[in-house]
Amino acid sequence: MRVLLVSPHPDDAEVFCGGTARLHVLQKHRVEEIILTRGERGTLPIHGPRYGPRRVEEARRAAEALGYTRVHQHDLGDMRVPEADAILTLRELADTYRPDLVYAPEPTHPFYKHPDHHAAGRAALEVFQHKVPLRLYHTQRPSHREDITTVYEDKVRAVKLHKTQRMLLEAGRIYTYINPQWAGLRGKTEEFRVVLARK
Ligand SMILES: [Zn+2]
Repeated sequence: MRVLLVSPHPDDAEVFCGGTARLHVLQKHRVEEIILTRGERGTLPIHGPRYGPRRVEEARRAAEALGYTRVHQHDLGDMRVPEADAILTLRELADTYRPDLVYAPEPTHPFYKHPDHHAAGRAALEVFQHKVPLRLYHTQRPSHREDITTVYEDKVRAVKLHKTQRMLLEAGRIYTYINPQWAGLRGKTEEFRVVLARK
């Protein structure tokens, strides 16, 4: 089984499907991640030009911690990912890697309007939805819940390797407890909207 994780930014896979990814690894599935941007814009005005390389390194270490086989790092521009470029990039990988299952951001989230998440989700649907099943993360319309209790600590450790994102992630975690629907996370589960392949 070959799994692909599509991340607009260096931390998305760990935050939204890191536990599920770890479960795949433990089942001896091959897990590869594609990160579309270096996340250089960050979340705070203090973030400077050296921020992108730091985030790339954090993602590499988190991927290693969870046991992904490979990370494909791209630089399509944080906050300005062109959907057409995302499609081309994913199509190229689809031809060489040929995943059996794809995780990607939910492109129809009603109020999480990050343009890169929308572009990545739409691109993933465009490239994969007629070929393989997708599980869309950060969704408000979950149709599949993965119990990640057994690997929850692994996930938390991997998320914490994104040191530059600590403030945001801690805020996000608090928010997750207040309103888990928003994040597609409920304590020790991860939620997905499943899109089955239509041939
Ligand atoms: Zn993101």
